[in-house]
Amino acid sequence: MKKILISRCFLGEKVRYDGKGNLLNNTILHQWLSDGRLIAICPEVAGGLPIPRPAAEIQQGSNKVITRNGVDVTDAFLKGAKKALELCHQHDIRYALLKESSPSCGSHKIHNGHFENIKISGQGICTQLLTANGIKVFSEENIEQLIAVIEGE
Ligand code: SF4
Repeated sequence: MKKILISRCFLGEKVRYDGKGNLLNNTILHQWLSDGRLIAICPEVAGGLPIPRPAAEIQQGSNKVITRNGVDVTDAFLKGAKKALELCHQHDIRYALLKESSPSCGSHKIHNGHFENIKISGQGICTQLLTANGIKVFSEENIEQLIAVIEGE
């Protein structure tokens, strides 16, 4: 049975920077959870960052992650991304379902780096590493494609 990496916040766990979750209600997801197919990680928490934590955005050009108050947290983001990749290797995972627009988990969009609530095309740090290692990352916006892939295998 193929396993899927998933953002912890999608399971309702309050791991976001603001101490909230992002519960994703989906019947198939509930089934996968009860089947033990979901391997959950919050890359930012896995990288050692606290809950709550200052909002952070990727800086265009440098790919560094800087908090709203100017602290460079790139190393923690990279550490968490590597832990996510390790989990994928441990569980032979080829697909991930990660939260869109996050500086770790975004797969098509991220914020523009200026804390202006403006989104641009781009990938979060964890998604970049997973993608570079052949893992296909989906988000809540294209979850139906992921379901079709998994259910079709
Ligand atoms: Fe959710 Fe990913 Fe942000 Fe963690 S880093 S709270 S899993 S979107």
